[in-house]
Amino acid sequence: MESIGVLMACPMNSYLEQQLENRFKLFRFWTVPDKSSFLASHKDSIQAVVGNAFAGADAKLIEALPKLEIVASFSVGLDKIDLAKCKEKGIRVTNTPDVLTEDVADLAIGLMLAVLRKLCESDRFVRSGKWKSGQYVLTTKFTGKRVGIIGLGRIGMAIAKRAEAFSCPISYYSRSEKPEIKYKYYPSVVELAANCDILVVACALTTETHHIINREVIDALGPKGVLINIGRGPHVDEPELVSALVEHRLGGAGLDVFEHEPEVPEELFALDNVVLLPHVGSGTVETRQAMADLVIGNLEAHFLEKPLLTPVV
Ligand code: NAP
Repeated sequence: MESIGVLMACPMNSYLEQQLENRFKLFRFWTVPDKSSFLASHKDSIQAVVGNAFAGADAKLIEALPKLEIVASFSVGLDKIDLAKCKEKGIRVTNTPDVLTEDVADLAIGLMLAVLRKLCESDRFVRSGKWKSGQYVLTTKFTGKRVGIIGLGRIGMAIAKRAEAFSCPISYYSRSEKPEIKYKYYPSVVELAANCDILVVACALTTETHHIINREVIDALGPKGVLINIGRGPHVDEPELVSALVEHRLGGAGLDVFEHEPEVPEELFALDNVVLLPHVGSGTVETRQAMADLVIGNLEAHFLEKPLLTPVV
């Protein structure tokens, strides 16, 4: 397989990079100064692209690589891959479902606790020496809060299971009601937001779910409500979110993802009711290694003409 060209779209994981290097002819796209001439000279050798949540394979890249056979994503989300174009050209697509579910769900619960109990803010209180001058403010109880989940897929279900252990009543919104699931279904995001204390975004990013969190949803969640986003940044109309937080029309937010990451609206930095994370939902050593192994396993399966491990297309 050493002659098969694999294009890595951006830096993602050193273990993955090493494993790809050991097996294939690896090209690191981010190190290439002139991308157009690079693609023109390597178009006949690149048969695979490895992408992730930040860079994948858009129509332009796919068109530039006539020998492309497979796009293997080092992520479960597929929003950086032009799936329609892949289908049209018969290019296979794989992702990394399941292996990251637990970590992302753990992080969602961590964000809920961090926002309601002001974990980061009270840590800063201790470090700054302010404790010597008085007690920290009282915070908000998490146990028993009503948790609403947008997208009851693998991660959404894992969040629900965890929140249930905190005695939180669970409700959800997705494209259709799941009769086998005991949680309350709301047929609109606004209704879900109006009937929960913590609203969690856990759905896939598609044209339908772009800005699924808009002003109407934020208003329905209200001044005591908390938004948790572990999905994708563009799920949220970010300027609307920022103004709602600044104007205290929303109670708080725990955000792992941002609309234009790594850019984060600076207005958020001054707020003590938000917790901001640098898109680290699946970012543990264990999970990133499992994701890398899945990417490698899919590429090897493809080039050995065996069934893909986690096919999407
Ligand atoms: P999944 O099992 O495919 O679940 C996705 C859910 O999205 C499904 O339950 C689906 O429900 C729902 N959905 C799709 N379109 C919808 C729409 N128009 N309206 C409402 N719900 C819709 O995927 P997963 O493994 O749980 O991952 C979910 C997402 O989490 C990924 O796509 C990714 O963007 C994000 N993620 C983030 C991180 C991070 O680091 N923060 C890490 C991993 C994943 P229905 O089919 O019933 O509508």
